[in-house]
Amino acid sequence: MALPKLRISPTRKNKRRSHLALSKTNLLECPSCGATKRPHTACTDCGYVRPGLTLKTSGTV
Ligand SMILES: [Zn+2]
Repeated sequence: MALPKLRISPTRKNKRRSHLALSKTNLLECPSCGATKRPHTACTDCGYVRPGLTLKTSGTV
């Protein structure tokens, strides 16, 4: 099995991992019922997508 030739220092390890953070999920308030929903998706509470389009949702997503 291949083994690393040199030990990675904590600084180098942390510098590499400085780009690995997850970005925060964008949440919008549903204009129909006020619940928070992700953009470009149907609201999980009321099924609202855009004016004129509402999808049926089971309520448990
Ligand atoms: Zn809603």
